[in-house]
Amino acid sequence: KAKDNGRNQYLLCTDEIKSEINKEKELINSLYRAMENDEIFLVYQPQVSLHTEKITGVESLLRWNHPKLGLISPSVIIPLAEQTGLINPIGEWVLESACAQNKAWQDMGIPPIQMAVNISASQFKNPQFIDQVEVILKKTGLNPEFLEIEITENIAILELNEIIGKLNGLKALGISIAIDDFGTEYSSLGRLKMLPIHRLKMDKQFVDGIGHNHKDQAIANAIIQLGKSLGLSVVAEGVEYEDQIAFLKTSECDLIQGYFYYKPLGVTELEKILISGCDLSNFNSTLN
Ligand code: C2E
Ligand code: MG
Ligand code: MG
Ligand code: MG
Repeated sequence: KAKDNGRNQYLLCTDEIKSEINKEKELINSLYRAMENDEIFLVYQPQVSLHTEKITGVESLLRWNHPKLGLISPSVIIPLAEQTGLINPIGEWVLESACAQNKAWQDMGIPPIQMAVNISASQFKNPQFIDQVEVILKKTGLNPEFLEIEITENIAILELNEIIGKLNGLKALGISIAIDDFGTEYSSLGRLKMLPIHRLKMDKQFVDGIGHNHKDQAIANAIIQLGKSLGLSVVAEGVEYEDQIAFLKTSECDLIQGYFYYKPLGVTELEKILISGCDLSNFNSTLN
C-alpha cells in the first residue's frame, strides 16, 4: 500500500483507477471535438400552465451524442466543461441555439412561448456574460421577453452586490430570471428578497414527497406560498403523478414541468405538439 512506503510516495494507481482517469481524459478530449462535430444538441421540455393546461414555455436541456459512449447526460457534460474551460463556448452555443430556435418557431407562426436556458455559476460569473446575452438577442432577433435564464443558488459563491448588479443588468435587457432547484442549495430568504427575479423552480425532491412525505409536502406548499407572496411565479419540477398535480393545483402552483405531461423532446416532436395546439389558419409550416 502506498501509505506504508512513506509520506513522499504517491498512491499507487490500480488498473481500475488508471482506466477511470483515462476514460475521463478521453471524455475531455472528445468534448473539444464534439462541439465541432455537431454531437451536441438541445432537447426541450414543455412547461404547462396549471390554469390553462397550455404550454407557456420550454426549458432547453443539453445532450451529447458521443460516437462511442452514446448519449451523455448534462450532469456529466457540464462539470466536465467547467473543468476544461469549455463552459463558455458551450454555454454561448446553448444560449444562441435556444434563442434562434425560439425565434424560428415564432417565424413559423406558432404562438410565442418562453425559452428557459440553464446558466451555470461559472458562466454567470464571467464578466462578459451580460454582453454575450445582449449580442445573442440581437443576432437571433428574439424578443427578450421570450427568454428566461435559470440560475441556481450556487451563484451564492459571488458577493451579494455583484449578484444583484448582474441580475439587474440582465433584467434591464428585458429577459426573465428563474432560480432553479430552489430549496436545495444555499438558500437564504434574506438574499432571495433582494434578488430581482421572476420565478422559482421548486426542486423535484419536494415534488417527489407529495402524497407520502408530510415534511416534503409542507415544504412544497410553503415554497409555492412564498413565491406567490413575493410576486414570483412558481414552477414545480419533475412532476410525474396525477396526485402531485392535484396537490399542486390546490396549492395554486402556476406551472408544471415533468414527465406527467412531457419528457424533454426533440425539435420535430415538439413542433408537432406546438402546432396542434394553435390556430392553423395562419400557420406557415415546414412540416407536412
Ligand atoms: P435542471 O435544470 O433542474 O433540469 C431538470 C432536469 O430534470 C432535466 O434533467 C430533466 O430532464 C429532468 N426531469 C424533468 N422532468 C422530470 C421528471 O418528471 N422525472 C425525472 N426523473 N426527471 C425529470 P437533464 O436534462 O438530465 O439535466 C440535468 C441538469 O443538467 C439540469 O437540471 C441542469 O442543471 C443541467 N443542464 C442541462 N442543460 C444545461 C445547459 O444547457 N447548461 C447548463 N449550464 N446546465 C444544463
Ligand atoms: Mg433548469
Ligand atoms: Mg431544476
Ligand atoms: Mg435539477
